[in-house]
Amino acid sequence: MPGPAMRATRAIIDLDAIAGNVHALRGALPETTRLMAVVKADGYGHGAPWIAKAAVGAGAALLGVATVGEGLLLRREGLDVPIVLLGSIDPSEVDAARDGGLEVTIGEERLLEAVQASARARPVASPMGVHLKVDTGLRRYGAALEEALALARRIAEEPHLSFNGVLTHFASADEPEEAFTTEQRDRFDTIMRAICDAGIDLPPRHVANSAGIITGQSGDCEIARAGISLYGIPPSDEVALLPGMRPAMRIESRIARVIAIEPGDTVGYNRTFRADRALRGALIPIGYADGYRRSLAGRAWVGMAGRRAPLIGRVSMDQIVAAIPDGIEAHVGDTAHILGDPAAAAPSISDIAAMYGTNSYEVVVGIRQRVPRVFVQGGRVVDVRGAHEGIGDGT
Ligand SMILES: *Cc1c(COP(=O)(O)O)cnc(C)c1O
Repeated sequence: MPGPAMRATRAIIDLDAIAGNVHALRGALPETTRLMAVVKADGYGHGAPWIAKAAVGAGAALLGVATVGEGLLLRREGLDVPIVLLGSIDPSEVDAARDGGLEVTIGEERLLEAVQASARARPVASPMGVHLKVDTGLRRYGAALEEALALARRIAEEPHLSFNGVLTHFASADEPEEAFTTEQRDRFDTIMRAICDAGIDLPPRHVANSAGIITGQSGDCEIARAGISLYGIPPSDEVALLPGMRPAMRIESRIARVIAIEPGDTVGYNRTFRADRALRGALIPIGYADGYRRSLAGRAWVGMAGRRAPLIGRVSMDQIVAAIPDGIEAHVGDTAHILGDPAAAAPSISDIAAMYGTNSYEVVVGIRQRVPRVFVQGGRVVDVRGAHEGIGDGT
């Protein structure tokens, strides 16, 4: 693919896939439901500003992030839709959130007090947007059922605040048979009724993540929050993507050297692989410092000319060796499909997650910054991040 000088190893981010995934998600929701594109953790490792722009361009109405820094970055990049901080923030960060126009999620009195104090330092004409998070059973962030109504009252009565949402988060939406999700939804509806009975104008409700949207748990809520599915990754083995959704990230590299391996030769550190016949190895410049973990040794493969080339020997910090399958030509400079493109014989993101013994979320957020991100739209490279502009820190 043309573009600036950069490492052979790169993550290609297909922004048309993001747009298509937004369309599919919106199609699964009532027309009046606004879609929040969740772009925390650098857009699940894909590159938050570009993902946010693509998602908003395709019809996402809000953005969700985890940290104030993530939200401020999006503002600096010119995104002007509501940006919601989905979890707790430190009270020391509240002024920065306010100045960046970020909406804060309140789950406890302490944060509400800090937010009220901060908001009151500004004119009533520019109230701070807040959401109330109710803990219906995840036992993570959120107000207990008994506290929720009192917090809702205080938010509604504070003229310096704009009550922009009430939310909860499901523990097991990615297990469709789990009855607990219905129980959580019932608890949420009880709180909403209490808020309504107290004479408070009902703010928009949001309960569903990707799995919840796909399995129909969003109901008639006014907002739905999509993270993993936005990127074209199924939420779990039990919850598949909607028709037309596809992965946005694939990782490619190029063969840097073809190694003639003789019977009895060993490959890599500690000589864990010993050849019992002559074969050719392909050296590929990706390693655990890129987020391609050491535990993939003996398990993973790369796609080469449409065939699976299994890793041999250990995964080093910066390189791997794969066995070139018999019967294919392989030359220095040929593409090696590392991840995300099963049509090119590469493992899917879910395959790699299974090899790690984790979920697909951790796979994509684990791809380090030293892997350049190449953004593609309409068949063209529209931007590259991290080629040679000094991101060499491997974070
Ligand atoms: C991260 C997050 C989401 C997105 O969940 P996915 O499973 O990735 O769709 C939704 N809601 C909250 C509160 C979150 O923190």
